[in-house]
Amino acid sequence: MFGKILIANRGEIAVRIIKTCRRMGIATAVVYSEADADSLAVEMADEAVFIGPPPAVQSYLVMDKIVEACRRTGAEAVHPGFGFLSENPAFARRLDDEGIVFIGPNPDAIAAMGDKIASKRAAKAAGVSTVPGHVGEIDGVEEALRISREIGYPVMIKASAGGGGKGIRIARTDQGVEEGFPAVRAEAASSFGDDRIFIEKFIESPRHVEVQVLGDKHGNIVHLFERECSIQRRNQKVVEEAPSPLLDEATRQAMGAQAIALARAVGYDSAGTVEFVAGQDRSFYFLEMNTRLQVEHPVTELITGVDLVEQMIRVAAGEKLAFGQDDLKINGWAIESRIYAEDPYRGFLPSIGRLVRYDPPEEGTLGQGLVRNDAGVREGDEISMFYDPMISKLATWGPDRATAVDTMAAALEDFYIEGPGHNLPFLSAVMDEPHFRSGKLSTSYIADIFPDGFHGVPPSDPDRDVMTAAACAMQLVLAARADPSKRPREDWVVLVGPVRRPVRLSWPGDTLQVELVGEERSLLLTDIAWRPGQPVFRGKLDGRSFALQVRPAAEGFNIRYRASSLHVLVLTPRSAELHEKLPPKKAADTSKLVLSPMPGLVVSIDVIPGQEVKTGEQVAIVEAMKMQNIIRAERDGVVKAVGAKAGDSVSADEVLVEFA
Ligand code: ADP
Ligand code: ADP
Ligand code: MG
Repeated sequence: MFGKILIANRGEIAVRIIKTCRRMGIATAVVYSEADADSLAVEMADEAVFIGPPPAVQSYLVMDKIVEACRRTGAEAVHPGFGFLSENPAFARRLDDEGIVFIGPNPDAIAAMGDKIASKRAAKAAGVSTVPGHVGEIDGVEEALRISREIGYPVMIKASAGGGGKGIRIARTDQGVEEGFPAVRAEAASSFGDDRIFIEKFIESPRHVEVQVLGDKHGNIVHLFERECSIQRRNQKVVEEAPSPLLDEATRQAMGAQAIALARAVGYDSAGTVEFVAGQDRSFYFLEMNTRLQVEHPVTELITGVDLVEQMIRVAAGEKLAFGQDDLKINGWAIESRIYAEDPYRGFLPSIGRLVRYDPPEEGTLGQGLVRNDAGVREGDEISMFYDPMISKLATWGPDRATAVDTMAAALEDFYIEGPGHNLPFLSAVMDEPHFRSGKLSTSYIADIFPDGFHGVPPSDPDRDVMTAAACAMQLVLAARADPSKRPREDWVVLVGPVRRPVRLSWPGDTLQVELVGEERSLLLTDIAWRPGQPVFRGKLDGRSFALQVRPAAEGFNIRYRASSLHVLVLTPRSAELHEKLPPKKAADTSKLVLSPMPGLVVSIDVIPGQEVKTGEQVAIVEAMKMQNIIRAERDGVVKAVGAKAGDSVSADEVLVEFA
């Protein structure tokens, strides 16, 4: 076994790999860029080597620097994690030449499978069913148009080197190809340094089901069942689970057999994932193979009990797999939620910044289930614009799917993040949503269920009770602090969003009883844990534990409970009356402005003052997180002024174009 492993990655996955190495008694070294000097991974590793400026092309992607770091630390092997150099055959070969072990598949397998065009050809040859399309490079827009018409719209334009949902775009018309082809090509060149593009048929509303495979250097290959990753936005996974609610035993075996056939055909000898799109009728087509550890590997680990990082290390060291296919069984159900620094209320656009508060739920048992949180950050850390905006991966396990989902809902409720925007409210909404709960998934789930975008979910009656009780408790705490000698009043009016609820409070012992006047019911709040300034309120309402997030507001509190956010006021009857007479506040009129939806770099402003523009027409391109985002006019109009130029950095809501 290796004495020391170097981790050529950062963030959550670097931390994940360090944990397994520690358990195996292997020393660790990590590399880090200027942006990661104070990171958790650097703190946890036995050694850390500085490799340059924040942009990955100057640090994490520079092979010479990784090799040099191995020399300096004496590491005998490199774990590449995912992203960066993990699927680069030249890197695997280079390490080989230097006498360093690459913890991943052999370079030929990466070359055969790590590239989408090549892997589609290999899959076809191995008898695996593939998405219909053109399996070759495409030169220019003219050729792209001809091929798209041949395949028939809609089509998917894809970068052969693409990954992480980048370099991929649907086109439903000629115009879609004319705009999409150059955009994908530019994205591919800037993100992957490789602008080869191909086009395939777009399968409507499919499901994403993938098979985890694991091989050793002695010809043994097993699969560790499937994961379903259909909940996606921008073709990127957000919620994953194992097993898939779609599959029956026969399909599971057929998919597993195809995945193994493909792995065998290319001499696969590490952990890898064969991705399929599947129809609701359980037909399935090969998409691509990821020749690396997968982001969502924790769900497979939770249902099989196998540590995939450990297995990758063991097979890289030449060990034989210690188990065969028959030794592997599915135990229970696991769900993973990717907690992203992004704004779910604005089309999930990236949102960066400092984690002013970061308070994840505790790992371990929760009710009938288990909680695992894979993170590479601590409170105070920065989610930087240079890398993936992932904050952590929250995974839960239960003996069955319903328990895993309930455990996830409870764990999300107890997760507090402040600083960058984050998708916790969105994930909470998904866990309560009936289609998701029943396992009726598709990759168009988010578009289907939230057709006008995500704007939170109105609170249910029980949610409103929780918010009411917590607000009353906080009001009493604040009143007692203002004047400890005075007995607080008992009658209040709680405004829960638009709903008015007169209440009468009593506090026998350390419980709070909230009598809902006119509703003939009362709420009993116990185990209250909150002090002024704390962002999470925890307690038990009628015996059930809950946590909600609270921020002080001008009057009252801004409360988020699960997927609902509301302004909640606890007023005296007199001030409630006055409050109801106030005219509602008007929002500023921004209809004449095209605003940048996120912080980023202006690639181009495509209109000039005086120009007439129609709804839906492209007015600018803003690059953020290595993605080119086309900004379109939301109404017809004549351009009065432009507020930025190519090369400018803009913040969210900065004016790009103003209409007359
Ligand atoms: P997975 O396929 O493992 O489920 P993703 O597809 O989201 O997960 O990609 C895994 C990670 O690797 C993400 O952080 C993504 O940004 C990154 N990534 C994937 N492919 C590449 C690539 N070719 N170059 C750089 N980063 C990549
Ligand atoms: P990446 O390397 O970025 O993961 P994939 O080829 O795996 O790229 O595609 C990412 C996602 O895009 C898939 O999970 C699927 O939801 C969707 N997708 C890709 N190709 C197609 C297709 N031909 N038809 C429908 N959906 C597709
Ligand atoms: Mg993929």
